[in-house]
This record gives sequence, C-alpha cells and structure tokens, in this order.
Amino acid sequence: MCGIVGYIGHKNAYPILIKGLKRLEYRGYDSAGVALISEEGNLNVYKAKGKVADLEAHCQEKDITGYAGIAHTRWATHGEPSSANAHPHYSASGRLALIHNGIIENYLTLKENLISRGFTFKSDTDTEVLVQLIEHIMLSNSLPLLEAVQVALHQVIGAYAIAILDREHPDTVICARQSSPLVVGLGSDNEFYLASDTSPIAEYTDKVVFLNEGDIAVLQLGKKLQVVNMDNVKQHPKVKQIDVTLGQLEKGGYPYFMLKEIFEQPDCLRNCMRGRINVDADRITLSAVIDYRKRLIEARRFIIVACGTSWHAGLIGKQLIENLCRIPVEVEYASEFRYCNPVIYPDDVVIAISQSGETADTLAAINLAHEAGAFVFGICNAIGASIPRQTQTGVYIHVGPEIGVASTKAFTGQVTVLSMLALCLAAERKTISAEQYKQMVSELTKVPEKMEEALKINKQIEKLAPIFTYAKNCLYLGRGYNYPVALEGALKLKEISYIHAEGYPAAEMKHGPIALIDSEMPVFVIATRDKLYEKVISNIQEVRARGGRVTALVTKGDEQIRKLADHVIELPDTLECFQPLVASIPLQLLAYHIAVCKGKDVDRPRNLAKSVTVE
Ligand code: GLU
Repeated sequence: MCGIVGYIGHKNAYPILIKGLKRLEYRGYDSAGVALISEEGNLNVYKAKGKVADLEAHCQEKDITGYAGIAHTRWATHGEPSSANAHPHYSASGRLALIHNGIIENYLTLKENLISRGFTFKSDTDTEVLVQLIEHIMLSNSLPLLEAVQVALHQVIGAYAIAILDREHPDTVICARQSSPLVVGLGSDNEFYLASDTSPIAEYTDKVVFLNEGDIAVLQLGKKLQVVNMDNVKQHPKVKQIDVTLGQLEKGGYPYFMLKEIFEQPDCLRNCMRGRINVDADRITLSAVIDYRKRLIEARRFIIVACGTSWHAGLIGKQLIENLCRIPVEVEYASEFRYCNPVIYPDDVVIAISQSGETADTLAAINLAHEAGAFVFGICNAIGASIPRQTQTGVYIHVGPEIGVASTKAFTGQVTVLSMLALCLAAERKTISAEQYKQMVSELTKVPEKMEEALKINKQIEKLAPIFTYAKNCLYLGRGYNYPVALEGALKLKEISYIHAEGYPAAEMKHGPIALIDSEMPVFVIATRDKLYEKVISNIQEVRARGGRVTALVTKGDEQIRKLADHVIELPDTLECFQPLVASIPLQLLAYHIAVCKGKDVDRPRNLAKSVTVE
C-alpha cells in the first residue's frame, strides 16, 4: 500500500525523494520517512507521523545532504501509525536502513528467533524484523549485503518491495520485489531512480525497468543496472520507454486530483477507444480478441474477479456480455473468490479487473484461475503492472495515471473496455445483428461528447451539495445497467464524505431499506429513460409516499419525474447499456462537492489507500 522512492546519483537526493513521496502519497499516508547517506558518511533517518508535509517540517534544520537516499509513505499493516513504526527502519548496528511495501507474513517466527539471540526491536512492524535479519545474516557470516539479502529473502514468506541503504557502501542501493511493485528509472547521467510506480520517475527519465517477481536489483554508481534472483542467477530485464506527461501528474489548476480526473473522462475515453475503434466508427478491433478469438468466443462462462469500484465495473460488464454475447457471467469479489474454493473449469475465461494492476486479492484470484487451467484476461490501467504480466492477454484502459484515491476515470475506462470487449465478442459470435453492432459502436464513440454535456451540470450540483451535508445516511437506487451505477455512487460518497450510503436495486428497496426512509434520508434515483423507466417511477412513488426526499437523474426533457422529485438532474440520452458512463458523472460530482462542503481532504480520504497491495 505504501509508496517507495529511491535515488542514487550526482544530485541532492532529498528534494527528489520528497517530491516523489508527494506523488506517491495516494498509496498510503499515515506516516513518512527518509534515509540519506550524508556528505560526512552518516546514515541519517528522519521520520514523522502524518503526511509528507509533516516529514518536511520535521527535516528542517536537519542534515539533509546526500546523493543516495530512500524514502517511504506508510499505510500501516503491523503496528499503529507512529513515528517509531514509520519507515525507514535501521538495522541493530545502525549500518543499514530499509523501506518496505507489503507484509512479511512469518515475521513473528523470525522475530522470536532474533529475540532469542538477544535482538531488541524499536517498532512493532514486520519490516524491522527483515532489516535486523539481513544485518544478522550479513555480519554473522561475513557476507556482502547482496548475498545476505538473498539468504534472508529465502527465509521470508509474504509480499515485499524493499530498498536498502548501507552506510559502508554509499555508492549502492539494493532493492528487491515479490508481489509488490517496484520500478527502476535509468537516469541519463549515471544515476538511478526507484519507485513503486513511474509517477515519481517520469519527470527525470523515460527509461524504466519494471522489476519482475523475485528480482533483486543492485543500483551502483558507475555501473550498469545489475539484476539477479534469490539464487544469484543473472536476470535480463527489458528497458521500457514510458510515456507519462508531467501534466498528467499535476493538478492542472483543479483544487483536487479527483475533480481533475472527473473532468478528464471524455478525453480519457477517447484515448481508451483510439486505435481500437476505426474512424468510420463502425468497427472495433481488440488485439486480444484477434489473438485469442477461439478461446474467448467458445468460453463456457466468464468469471469476473475484482474489488471495490472495479467490481462495480464488472457488474456492468456482466450485463453487457450476457445481453450482447449470450455467455453466462459471474462477478466475484476477488477477496472472497480466492478463499471460497470456487468451481473453475478449464474452458472458463476469468477476467481480472484492477486500476493499478497490483491489487493483491485480484492477483491471488488470477493464480487460482491459472491453477485450474482457465484462461485469464486482464483489464488494467498501469502499464507494465503485475496483472498484465500475469495474464495471457488483456486490454489496457489507457486513461492515464489516476491519483485521486476515489476512482473515477478508471471506472469509466473499465466500463468502456468491457463495452468494446462485449461488442467484439458479440460480432464474432453473431449474437447481435450487423446493423445493431454498427449502431452500438457508433453510439459508443459519441459517449465522450455526452459526458462533456453531463459535466456542464457541475455548477448545478455544486449548488445542490450543501443541502446533503447534514445527512447521516443516503440511499442510491437504480435498476438494470443503472444498479451498479447506484452502488458506485454510494461508494464514492462513503469514501470521501464519510456519509453512510447504500446502493440498492430500486425494486429490492421494498424488501428492507424502505423501513429507513423518512424526510431526513436523501434518496438518489437513477431514472433515465430505458425499458425499466415506468417501474422506476413506481419506486420513486414508493419513496415519496414515505416522505423521502428524492433527487432523480433523468433523461434530458423528462417532465414526468420532474413533477415527482425534489431535485432533478438532466442527462443526455444514450443507449441503455452505455448510460452508466454518463450517469456516473453527476454522482461522482455530487460525492465530490458534498465532501468539499464538509471540509474533507478529497484526494486523501482517511483509512484508504489507492492501490491495495495487501490482502
Ligand atoms: N507492513 C509494513 C508496515 O506495516 C509496510 C506496510 C506498507 O506497505 O505500507 O509497516
């Protein structure tokens, strides 16, 4: 969950590390720390509870010199958020400092062993056990650091991306990964960068190496990048060129990344479709479907595995694939799927969806699918992440880096990819007519324009938002394709405003939640004109009859619901199956403005992290 940054070269490391931490703060932010080998040869570690800004304040007046350093923002798994538990952690002698993203699952056994040898610990973390273990192995066997790391990692069960500084070797940083991401940036002038993803690296170099599972990298001044595995077998990593513009990493004039990302969505979806839908807007080409046509169209069943917002996108994907392709689809929470002994057939296709491509539970579900011999298809945003590397094929959503913790553009990107996939497969399986296919492809290309129109209601929503800040509970209702939109709208509100919210299929409300409705309870109903329109009107009547306050999302020009609802938000019309792409926008904006009205830090909601790389 946390963010890792490292630098070694001829520049001052501290400013690079702090800037990098700020870019990674979305990954975790309960404390932060930095380790530097100073010009005098000391290994200085500074840590602070809170945000990166608190660390900066703490470092004022401190010796922040040094050309080699590592830094960390933490999202605690073992031990409360505190300065003692923040990373980097020193080894017993103070010669090594280590940062870690992940969980050392057998830390207790390792710790007890070290305690029995007289070691003491300053923190409650699993991470400190690792650095003590490495130094113990190094000193007691007179091994070089690299070999000690290899021996130690053989004893470790769990997930890690680590980076280590050694006071005795100020020209070297050693790092390693297993199940947590780590990227090395190759600077132009004998320097190396290191980070959990490319965002802290992109402004310095476009040449990166995504470390693979089990890789250990040695970043040594004056030497080429050296990568080996735990058994010291040389690895030959590929150098990749990345294409992330700085504008994509900055807020671009918006007060929060979340608002910027909401407004980026029309362009993001154009990027997502570019090169996949032809200029005449009548054909979709996905290389994954060309390469694995037979496997995909002959699938006995699709199983979508995902977490959080991606799971909501999966629910829309289910309806798209079942309606258009007539293939049964199951949608599973990856975290449940991995432990529920699922029935997976070799002719199933498992679709794994994750923005970061690093979601630990989704990766575990992928492993399970592989073991059962199923074909695994990934849908992910982060280029080169673990999901695209651990699946047979897949489709990137190409919406650019998503920094706001509450996912917005990744959700609509995922739904767009699922729409394209369903249409491609339907065309191959001939489950829709050629005419219907063309009409749908053409309509999909018009969605970005319709999103632009939907974004114009931002001001209206900003004005509306204050009246909902008093609410303790909210209900979101929708049916069919709009049911997952209701779930996603409720999740957004919970995540950033901390108001309890439930998404429900509108007709299910009668079977329970209707008991909650009173004049204090805002009810948001997605009531666009589709085949369930009349039925949703009846559901609105049911809410009204109990004094509920209704805000309805309706198709532009709808007069009928205007008479029933307290507030109406008009949306441009599109095909029912693409409505979620447009209808999500006002709900994202609503959550955003309510949270801002309540004075919440929208980009850094409490307790949440962007990329959930622990289970
Ligand atoms: N398990 C480590 C800790 O609790 C690292 C957690 C993280 O990935 O931020 O300190």
